[in-house]
Amino acid sequence: MTERTFSILKPDATERNLTGAINAVIEKAGLRIVAQKRIKMSRADAEQFYGVHKERPFFGELVETMTSAPVVVQVLEGDGAIAKYREIMGATNPAQAADGTIRKLYAKSIGENSVHGSDAPETAKAEIAQFFPDAEIVG
Ligand code: ATP
Ligand code: MG
Repeated sequence: MTERTFSILKPDATERNLTGAINAVIEKAGLRIVAQKRIKMSRADAEQFYGVHKERPFFGELVETMTSAPVVVQVLEGDGAIAKYREIMGATNPAQAADGTIRKLYAKSIGENSVHGSDAPETAKAEIAQFFPDAEIVG
């Protein structure tokens, strides 16, 4: 089933000039980048985006990290896009990520792990809507 997921190339990726390298992994996996823009997340953006984690001990650090440098926000489309992207991203902690995954290849640490991907259809829908009006998504 063709579906859409939301992706972020995080500050550690933009800072190290890795956006093209990561996009190559995404496209090689058969996912299409149907929307993309480079933005600087505001504190309010990051707090809303990661609101589900607001009681976690790492929340402050997470918001600081996500607002520390530009990010690239994307909508990816493809067959089973949500699960497929989670698979090619690899585990949250890069030390546990499988060979060939984006986080194994590029992530620096659990806090600077290069990419975000939605974890379910409802979160994908809400996350896409936070950053992209329908007119900016061109499949
Ligand atoms: P993401 O939501 O960014 O795609 P994920 O779904 O793999 O990542 P989550 O559990 O949703 O992982 O955590 C969100 C983000 O919070 C992680 O990507 C990571 O950057 C950060 N994070 C998670 N656990 C920790 C931790 N123990 N210490 C520091 N940062 C953490
Ligand atoms: Mg998550």
